[in-house]
Amino acid sequence: MLQQNQKKVNIMTKVMIHPASYENVRQAVDRAFEHFPLKLKDKRVLIKPNVLRASQWNEGIVTHPAVLKAVAEKIETMDPASIIVGDNPGLFSYGANEESFEKTGLMDAACGHYENIGNDSVKVDFNPVFLPWVSLSKAVMDADIIISLPKFKTHGLTVITGAIKNSYGFLPGAQKARLHKIAGTPQRFHEMLVDVFQLRVPDLFLVDAVVGMEGNGPASPDLRDIGLILASDNGVALDAVIATLMGCEPGLLRFLQKAKEAGLGDYDLKNIEILGELKPLPDFKIPPLGGEAIMHNEAMQGMLLDRTLLRPQVDPEWCTACGTCIDQCPVSALFMDEDIPKVDADTCITCFCCQEMCPEKAIALK
Ligand code: SF4
Ligand code: SF4
Repeated sequence: MLQQNQKKVNIMTKVMIHPASYENVRQAVDRAFEHFPLKLKDKRVLIKPNVLRASQWNEGIVTHPAVLKAVAEKIETMDPASIIVGDNPGLFSYGANEESFEKTGLMDAACGHYENIGNDSVKVDFNPVFLPWVSLSKAVMDADIIISLPKFKTHGLTVITGAIKNSYGFLPGAQKARLHKIAGTPQRFHEMLVDVFQLRVPDLFLVDAVVGMEGNGPASPDLRDIGLILASDNGVALDAVIATLMGCEPGLLRFLQKAKEAGLGDYDLKNIEILGELKPLPDFKIPPLGGEAIMHNEAMQGMLLDRTLLRPQVDPEWCTACGTCIDQCPVSALFMDEDIPKVDADTCITCFCCQEMCPEKAIALK
């Protein structure tokens, strides 16, 4: 499997734990850049918040706009060649990239750097155990530096969602649902997540743990005031600290075991220097549904199947045969057949690009 830009792991990785509120978050961001300095002059920078779906910022489902704004403003002072802020939202908001950023307040917080990174993607080799290739947002491959902004949340399938899980959003469209289905079991899903993560390991992670989520995440109503920003240049160490704060033993999480086996870092706290105070949150509620339950939940399986079955359909009444959709399809799944674009269902990754690009609004996903 291709392991592009795989990061070398320091002997002793560091994780910063810094007190913060949304009003003073810039102080924690400045401190993170002191602990983990990056040379950004003339570099193309991608900032990737967690934008799970279109929701209000105070539902705690996405990275808080104050955190994104503080990071974007910080980077603007560092003279980069360009800044892109983007994500590919999850299951409930495929094809609703702009809407998700607008509704959450992340569009304003992006300081004019928002881009729909789902509109342009490239094929990369993947672990053939799951799929021979996947399509990755081109902005991810083009970036010199990637800054990942996970949200401190629980997750029914992976127990925690942090640094490694945030990279799942590098995949545009319904590939996420497809891979969920192909993985089939929680154990394989954990392993596949690491395969996605190592396609392009981000350079710096800052976690919004000012208000976190407990209970049945990643979209639970159980929010928790935590008052922290976490940061690291190593996602494995950072996720180990998140798990520990949640009262969960990091070594029990299969995705951390696999990440360690792959040489991406260590979850053993003995090998992590904590910059701050690591104190597990009392009585933190981790998901009531185990991974097995969520993976075999009928409603969840039905939803995954629905998403993987969506394909574009062209309305001949509106189509002018301009060919834009065919040119824009990142995986060449469209072809012209008697002046009407048709789709090769097996090749289509349901990325929604054709629908978004059609000037006549002639494409629907059905
Ligand atoms: S046919 Fe449309 S939805 Fe399918 S991969 Fe191509 S651009 Fe994406
Ligand atoms: S972009 Fe729209 S109008 Fe142009 S060929 Fe495709 S479906 Fe038809």
